[in-house]
Amino acid sequence: MKGAGRAVAQVAVPVPVPRLFDYLPENASAELPPPGSRVLVPFGSRRLVGLVMGHSQASPENRSNLKPIERLLDAGLIAPPLLELIDWCARYYAFAPGEAVNLLLPGALRRTREFREPPPGAYELTEKGREASLKRAPSQAEIRDLLAAGPRAREELLEHAGTEVLRRMESGGLIRASDSDPQPEAVAGPELNAEQRAAVAAIVHHRRRFSSFLLAGVTGSGKTEVYLQAARRLLRGCGQVLILVPEIGLTPQLVRRIESRLGHQAHVYHSGLSEGERLACWQAARSGRARVIVGTRSAVFMPLVQPALIIVDEEHDGSFKQAEGARYHGRDVAVLRARSAGVPIVLGSATPSLESLHNVGQGRYQMLTLSRRAGAARQPRWRIIDGRGSKAELHPQLVEAMQRHLAEGGQVLLYRNRRGYAPVLMCAECGWQADCQRCSAHLTVHQRQGRLQCHHCGAQRPVPRRCPDCESPELLSLGAGTERLEDCVVSACPDVPVHRVDRDAMSGKDDFEKLLETVRGGTPCVLVGTQMLAKGHHLPGVTLAAVLDVDQALFSADFRAPERLGQVIAQVAGRAGRGDRSGEFLIVTRHPEHPLLEALARGDYLTFARSLLEERTQAQLPPAQALALVRAEAHEAEAARTFLVEAGRLLACRGLEIHGPLPAILARRGGYWRFQLWLQADNRAALVNRIAERLPALHELKSARRVRWHVDVDPLEL
Ligand code: ADP
Ligand code: ZN
Ligand code: ZN
Repeated sequence: MKGAGRAVAQVAVPVPVPRLFDYLPENASAELPPPGSRVLVPFGSRRLVGLVMGHSQASPENRSNLKPIERLLDAGLIAPPLLELIDWCARYYAFAPGEAVNLLLPGALRRTREFREPPPGAYELTEKGREASLKRAPSQAEIRDLLAAGPRAREELLEHAGTEVLRRMESGGLIRASDSDPQPEAVAGPELNAEQRAAVAAIVHHRRRFSSFLLAGVTGSGKTEVYLQAARRLLRGCGQVLILVPEIGLTPQLVRRIESRLGHQAHVYHSGLSEGERLACWQAARSGRARVIVGTRSAVFMPLVQPALIIVDEEHDGSFKQAEGARYHGRDVAVLRARSAGVPIVLGSATPSLESLHNVGQGRYQMLTLSRRAGAARQPRWRIIDGRGSKAELHPQLVEAMQRHLAEGGQVLLYRNRRGYAPVLMCAECGWQADCQRCSAHLTVHQRQGRLQCHHCGAQRPVPRRCPDCESPELLSLGAGTERLEDCVVSACPDVPVHRVDRDAMSGKDDFEKLLETVRGGTPCVLVGTQMLAKGHHLPGVTLAAVLDVDQALFSADFRAPERLGQVIAQVAGRAGRGDRSGEFLIVTRHPEHPLLEALARGDYLTFARSLLEERTQAQLPPAQALALVRAEAHEAEAARTFLVEAGRLLACRGLEIHGPLPAILARRGGYWRFQLWLQADNRAALVNRIAERLPALHELKSARRVRWHVDVDPLEL
């Protein structure tokens, strides 16, 4: 045994305690595992998988309490740059270091049980397989024929035969795991226009050098072509490309397009995959075999050996921000990652976030613009319909336009961001309304299921037949959600199929993708749906798009509401007329003269966004100012408020403005009263440093034990 001050390993353990834990080496003669090693450690009465984040010196008295690492699982599994990135994130976003384990390791590597190696990603034929007769095994013969031309992805083979067939062929020595990824044939894309060429040139010019680009291109302007052509050139030789997309944007169609342009298999990574599939992707990325990785938010922490380019598609999308646990923003972390890797990064959107436009203004990002739609498609004509004076759920002018477009062979898309039949159930006699007992919110009527549902806590009950207060049977469903709109559309346009697109109607894994396929077939139809429809899907048959619920957002208490509304409007408008027929876009509102709508209708989104940014700056709100929230919730409002008052006292310092405690916009959820403290500063680093410095003291507060609380830096929800 050596004496005092001998080094110990500082291990991140997946527990919500805001610190690292010290462990001794496995035994007296063992070296300490290097940072980034995966280790099995005793923790209380449990054993957990942790990550060695660093080494330090332990004092002799502490040492006597320390336990040794039980077993080194993988030495140096995570490379130093990624460890540094996580360290930075944990400090900036004020999350417990143990979250690093969840962010850096796929689920399979976080278990104490041995994991089964996932099946190989691709197979090839063996000599024996090539010569086997297989006359009496038609499925096997089919696989053999498919593999005759070279290796193929397991996924692809599974479209032709079951896992059992592959297993039998592998154990029989007819096929084996292939090391090399199957290479889809690269197809040349369309010839780029001048703006696209300039954008690609600017990106490629920064080969192996960090630079952030904001690719702002109107919907359908060919942003994806720009990513792909830049990626193709930066991939030459070696290198890896990481493409981050919003949760809902990762469609098989996009993956196929990426593969066919880049000539590499795209390895996908998202939460819908099985643990084995996630592990396979992670390992392929870490080994360098995966050249192209397409994933949602969490893929930003993917191990890469030779990054060459990072792309964030639809960078404005809220799903890049994690709302639980480690509250990081995938887009912002991606920029840091590109900087530390010394590679270019492209953030693309038709409706860039004010954060990114601000960064352009500050000279941190370089703006690339695509101002016209690619190919023959033109921007749609806009019309604002004055909804006053019409009680109908579907305005007569809207119905007229729908019928006209359908008669001309077009498809129609109606956007309404509310699921269910009606947002309010009210008694016509006494004015009673069906409210959630645990949230400050109305219950939504879901007529198809005959139930009332709370969209915040999930509470459900049957729709009552009579008013619980006055027994009147006259209960009114007020307002229209997608279910009711669907009914209205069916009666207004009885001759065409009507598809509802929301979480209720599209609950199956492939429902949405199947529907998109049908719609791309081109026969006239009407789509009625929520955000799912507003995202960047390419539906060339849609000639009329309409947004039906702007009025609430126009007067929301959330300072981001106008930005979000503008994005939704521009994105939905962007669904119309993407094919060769020209498109039309309608907004139905009771506030047709609202300056926001006028600004949007008058010009392009960027002009609108710049004026919003100006307003935010005037009002000293993000992104001009740095903002963090301390949120607290408790069954008793007083407990949450008390904690926040004490927290505010601890955090107060010069250069930091503190407001609150203020109630959250949704003041009560699931029985918890929700409050927040606003921390604002001109200087982002000062804000983050102050939080990091005071975080341990916040945890020490007695009042902290009576509430659920967390810090959210750069929050998106209020
Ligand atoms: P965005 O990503 O901006 O929505 P896409 O890259 O998906 O746009 O392009 C929209 C459509 O226009 C696609 O069908 C694409 O193949 C086509 N396209 C893109 N660039 C060109 C071009 N330079 N010439 C012709 N068609 C193009
Ligand atoms: Zn009543
Ligand atoms: Zn509720």
